[in-house]
Amino acid sequence: MTVEAHKETLEFKAEVSQVLDLVIRSLYSNKEIFLRELISNASDAAEKLRFEALSDDGLYEGDGGELRIRVTVDKEAGTLTVSDNGIGLSRQEIVETIGSIASSGTKRFFEKLTGDQAKDSQLIGQFGVGFYSSYIVADRVTIVSRRAGLGAEHGVHWESDGRGSYTLETVERAARGTDVTLHLKEDEKEFLDPWRLRSIISKFSDHIALPVEMLKDADEGPEGDEAEAGEDKPKDKGPVWEKVNRGTALWMRNKADVTEEEYQEFYKHLSHDYDPPLAYVHNRVEGTNEYTTLLFVPSKAPWDLWDRDQKHGIKLYVRRVFIMDQADKLLPHYLRFVKGVVDSDDLPLNVSRELLQHNRKIDTIRQANTKRILGLLETLATDEPEKYAEFWKEFGRVIKEGPAEDFANRERLGGLLRFSTTHGEGEAQTETLDGYIERMKEGQDKIYFITADSPAAARHSPHLEVFRKKGVEVVLLSDRVDEWLVNHMHEYKGKHLQSVTKGDLDLGSLADAEEKAKTEQAAKEHGTLLERLKTALGERVDKVRPSARLVDSPACLVVGEYDMSANLARVLKAVGQDAPVQRPTLEVNLDHPLVKRLETEEDETRFADLGLILFDQAQLAEGGQLDDPAAFVGRLNSLMLATLDPQGRIILP
Ligand code: ADP
Ligand code: MG
Repeated sequence: MTVEAHKETLEFKAEVSQVLDLVIRSLYSNKEIFLRELISNASDAAEKLRFEALSDDGLYEGDGGELRIRVTVDKEAGTLTVSDNGIGLSRQEIVETIGSIASSGTKRFFEKLTGDQAKDSQLIGQFGVGFYSSYIVADRVTIVSRRAGLGAEHGVHWESDGRGSYTLETVERAARGTDVTLHLKEDEKEFLDPWRLRSIISKFSDHIALPVEMLKDADEGPEGDEAEAGEDKPKDKGPVWEKVNRGTALWMRNKADVTEEEYQEFYKHLSHDYDPPLAYVHNRVEGTNEYTTLLFVPSKAPWDLWDRDQKHGIKLYVRRVFIMDQADKLLPHYLRFVKGVVDSDDLPLNVSRELLQHNRKIDTIRQANTKRILGLLETLATDEPEKYAEFWKEFGRVIKEGPAEDFANRERLGGLLRFSTTHGEGEAQTETLDGYIERMKEGQDKIYFITADSPAAARHSPHLEVFRKKGVEVVLLSDRVDEWLVNHMHEYKGKHLQSVTKGDLDLGSLADAEEKAKTEQAAKEHGTLLERLKTALGERVDKVRPSARLVDSPACLVVGEYDMSANLARVLKAVGQDAPVQRPTLEVNLDHPLVKRLETEEDETRFADLGLILFDQAQLAEGGQLDDPAAFVGRLNSLMLATLDPQGRIILP
């Protein structure tokens, strides 16, 4: 490696200046968080060192690995310094991490920016832009660092006023680790007061598993004179450091000793989320597989919940040593919004991502975690339904992936689902399957549902007419994931889930015998009409038959019981995937005046036009798209013209 001792000035990558501006503006009202961010980075650096040293203990450079964070002030210089003896930064690493925004997550952040300050500052919390919060209170920041394992001549000095450029210089530095020094703005000198700093540290950083130390200094306390006289500060032994935070990992503490605020602070530290969590569970498991878990359900969905490449998962520790972030094997994919920590006593310290794939202990932990989260959600749903409703709004669509992924918990997941149904009016998803079952009609043995691509299309579909007439409730599904859900969940509590748009609608004992006989009779009586329609529609349909579903509409389309629903075929098409070519059945309402009129039409061309209009309308009514919209419009227009007299008045029958 060549050492570039020269001092160079480099421009920030364009996004950095933008982030800086935004951070300073939007976090100003909460400025003390800069200290939390710097301590959090120092703590990360210590964890990285501890982890890398597992395979190379030379990185401790003979100091026994006593890791700690120190906060010092220099009142004359007006500076505040956060120091750590963690992993440190090489020159290259500084350019990559501090000088630019390297992570793809943060790049996405820019795509998300709306220009609306309030909204954008909400977003900030979800991204790793922590270091830049220094510029809320500082007009200049210096970083002096050396990467663990490199020689003293590889120290690096970075400095910037946060306005577009920074300088970089190679320096001598004996100690490994990093000092971040803030040159405080004129009106931010309150952060030179050690008492103020101590209170911020214990507020934000008590749960950090590393000691945060400050100098035990005579003049810093209100009772300074007394301290000066104390024997615990021998002048010749150099400065005496004092631990300011609690310095034990929060998850290792007894539940009963951890306050609500401490859990919340820890969650914020863990998740970069500014909102408090909605709920959490904290458990210690003893026995053959010993571990501790602390899991949080956030109150807001992260912006990238639906991003396929997004890393997720929880933090894995082994006997308090940080092993990896985003360990995604510790929870199923449909619980990817959960944040938290698992600390195992039994896993080997050199556990790798590959090892996690096939590890029985990990499987047990995943199952237990899943049960805990499901239990937490069940309790929330029963005890705090409004909170659960909030949860459902944010994460319901992810939970709906559950039954497909997690066969074992299908029934429990079914109980957590929320829907809108024809029982209620609005679009809010508040009904449960259990509620549906309670309201089932005498003789009803199935749970009926419809999938469509919007709530309105579902609610107003012609397929629901007969259900409305009979007062039978139908579950309305219009999220994309719903197709996936009903494809993997065929029953709940022994009740079959039945699509109302599929098959030969068999209402079981709901349909009275009289009606059935009537439909069969009608099919015979109107055989000619049905055949003429089939001829007119040709390959577009598989069959034409009288409908038992319709009351007000003239016609609708249905697919076979085991065919893909028309809605799913549309979804697949919209995302560019092939859907099998399926010919639907056209069902007609023989009591409808239009159908009756059609039956008396003698002109075959006119008959075919009307038949096609009926078919196209049926597609439109369920939210489908026409293959040839222009032809439909043409046919409709000539029909309209035919109903006008030469003066342009509508001819009424
Ligand atoms: P985040 O911590 O979310 O990654 P930050 O802006 O807080 O975002 O920090 C950016 C990066 O700078 C960190 O990921 C880390 O690589 C590096 N960094 C910051 N502070 C330190 C430190 N004290 N020691 C080592 N690396 C650091
Ligand atoms: Mg950080």
